[in-house]
Amino acid sequence: MSESTSKMIELLPGGYYIPGSTNIGIITEKTFAGTNVYMVDSGTTEIDAEYILSILDDFFAKQGRKYKIKAIINTHGHTDHAGGNLYLQKKTGCQVWISKLERPYIENPELQAADIWGGTPPHEIQTAYFRPQPSKVSKIINEDVKVRLSGGNTISFISLPGHSFEMTALVYTDKEGKKVVYAGDGIFTRGELSKHWIPFMLNPFKFMKALEKLSELENVEWCVPGHGDCIHKNLSETIEMDSLAILETKQLLLNLISEGRKTSGELLKEVADLNEIKLGFGQSVLIRSTLKSYLAAMHDMGLIKVVIENNTFYWCKA
Ligand SMILES: [Zn+2]
Repeated sequence: MSESTSKMIELLPGGYYIPGSTNIGIITEKTFAGTNVYMVDSGTTEIDAEYILSILDDFFAKQGRKYKIKAIINTHGHTDHAGGNLYLQKKTGCQVWISKLERPYIENPELQAADIWGGTPPHEIQTAYFRPQPSKVSKIINEDVKVRLSGGNTISFISLPGHSFEMTALVYTDKEGKKVVYAGDGIFTRGELSKHWIPFMLNPFKFMKALEKLSELENVEWCVPGHGDCIHKNLSETIEMDSLAILETKQLLLNLISEGRKTSGELLKEVADLNEIKLGFGQSVLIRSTLKSYLAAMHDMGLIKVVIENNTFYWCKA
């Protein structure tokens, strides 16, 4: 086995993944002409996409089979999951599938940066990381869509909003009912949480609710998260840890606000200091956006309230 071939790891017959800073799922379907490939996410850049193609070329050359990428299925529209789309579309003519609410983010990538910034962002947030090249969507996925593959295998979808508007996990089920779940950023591993204790969230409480959906899945052999190591069979420990991280940040915000009214900027600094997070430009924007989502949800739950005094917007005890 060559080095690059060994980088495509089989989890179930027909269900593979390519580990990387963003994990790429590969589902194969044998046909008369060769093999159809359904790819889950496409990496951050053209270089990632080129690397993925080289691994696929090697893998199928060794088997003496032709292959065709039928579709890239994006779990969501963030650049680190969809940044390789355009390169692969140009190179192979493959389709791109994504959920309805994520579609605008890859067709009009300037929305991503504006969304995270909360207005028109400065040039630091207009980089390729926040603003990928646009790709063209061919099909909308949702929980009603099921793809029947040859050999009795299927692909289905679970909507997991929270990290983004309509994060969607892909479930590959083999003919015996065993599953590989390609969860994108619908779950964060222990390793990822230790690096980013406050991962980006559009709605942390919806994220927690979506985790329940993952915990209800049966016969999961493997779960491939968007980042970090795959999880074997038992997702409950990771799900508990993700929920705990969210509840801890919520409690920290409540404690800080109960000390006295605070602005969003003050809360960002105190949360970062207490969690020993050193904020750079990008991270301060991502965590600021995430904390604003926590605060808005906690406000709507009646846990905190807003006071505007002397033209200053404060979060206060309810
Ligand atoms: Zn993401």
